[in-house]
Amino acid sequence: MVHQGHSHRHYGETMLSVEDALDRILSFFQVLGPEEKPLLEALGQVLVEDATSPYNIPPMDNSAMDGYAVQAADVKGASKDSPVSLRVIGHVAAGHLPTEIVGPGTAIRIMTGAPIPDGADAVVPFEDTDELDRRAAGGEITDIGIRFEVKGGADIRPAGQDVQTGTKVLAKGSVLRPSEVGVLASLGFGNVKVVRRPVVAILATGDELLEPGEEYGAGKIYNSNNFSVAASVLRYGGLPKMLGIARDNLDSMNAKLEEGLDADMLITSAGVSKGDYDMVKDVLAQHGKIDFWSVKMRPAKPLAFGVLNAPDGRKVPHLGLPGNPVSALVAFEQFGRAAIHKMMGKTELAKPTIEAVLDEPIYNNDGRRVYARAIITRQNGTYHVKLTGDQGSNLLTSMARANGLAICPEDVQKMEAGDKVQVQMLDWSEDVF
Ligand code: AMP
Ligand code: MG
Repeated sequence: MVHQGHSHRHYGETMLSVEDALDRILSFFQVLGPEEKPLLEALGQVLVEDATSPYNIPPMDNSAMDGYAVQAADVKGASKDSPVSLRVIGHVAAGHLPTEIVGPGTAIRIMTGAPIPDGADAVVPFEDTDELDRRAAGGEITDIGIRFEVKGGADIRPAGQDVQTGTKVLAKGSVLRPSEVGVLASLGFGNVKVVRRPVVAILATGDELLEPGEEYGAGKIYNSNNFSVAASVLRYGGLPKMLGIARDNLDSMNAKLEEGLDADMLITSAGVSKGDYDMVKDVLAQHGKIDFWSVKMRPAKPLAFGVLNAPDGRKVPHLGLPGNPVSALVAFEQFGRAAIHKMMGKTELAKPTIEAVLDEPIYNNDGRRVYARAIITRQNGTYHVKLTGDQGSNLLTSMARANGLAICPEDVQKMEAGDKVQVQMLDWSEDVF
């Protein structure tokens, strides 16, 4: 029997929906300040300023084809049977400037991307000339037969076609994906100003914990939460600061907490369930404010959230995840992920869902929102959901087998096979889809 002593009397009084818990948590986070860094290192971060083009892209009129730069008027009426012969006065490759001017009766051999010579107003692709025949005959090509007429502007990519000087190319707030990184590179920017990444201090609590790499000892378990949580922090763009393990005593907790006060956020795990939380509560209350919540979700019902006072006057938000490894990860996905995204300047904060079809029932017997570990496959264009089996919150390998969390609403006691279900994807592995 769990002893329900007097000091536990407030536990569980704050019963929150997932949305209310998320709103409360997010209200303690702000978008972080800017940093300027090399373009590639900013992948996944958010632009602090609009990116305006200092140039036209392309910067000059250039050829869309390998061929001949001509005056369109010269080749009017040209055909396979009566080609127009032009004198070849030069050639120009990409990255080089033409040295000749195309006048009537002349052409310049031109490569894709090369600047259009003055005087020319169209490009005739190789395949519309008799160049191959001339080559086969040997000797230098001094003249070229044009076999098709072209309109003015044909196969010329005009300066500024993609982007004109002074236009806004990316708005502030844009997330830098590979295509945005490419666009910024095309504008010539070597560095970029983005919202900095949050430093997230990560602390495990418990006398039973060993660090991976340490020799096993009887009665102990390895600390997996710090690693799964830190990996999640990295995945969503934060910078983990590993604080290791605090033991279940005041001095150890105090010492470890102090190491986390220079971070943008502290995430602890364990010590939030009934048997444990008094000690944690006392320590955290000395450093700031702490609330213990019951969130209407399964797994991960007990959650702590508070703010710690840093020596420099800052308030450091503290998210206290449950100790069970699956609970810690599921709670992180709902709350930690959103907090990191908010600090990074992102605006889509709640984890998105897709709609899928259940292949087996989900049972919900206590009115909480169930996040069931699930294996999602795509069959004939529809997503199907099977569960990973036993949903015990201590079964971390079941989380490793899952690629999504299927959500059974709090007011639904049973979802049937065949029902539509909302699913949060944990990944979009190409092996699966
Ligand atoms: P507690 O909230 O301290 O009662 O912990 C709940 C459960 O989570 C216990 O079985 C703990 O041993 C386990 N646990 C706590 N911290 C960790 C951790 N860092 N890694 C793996 N399991 C943990
Ligand atoms: Mg514990």
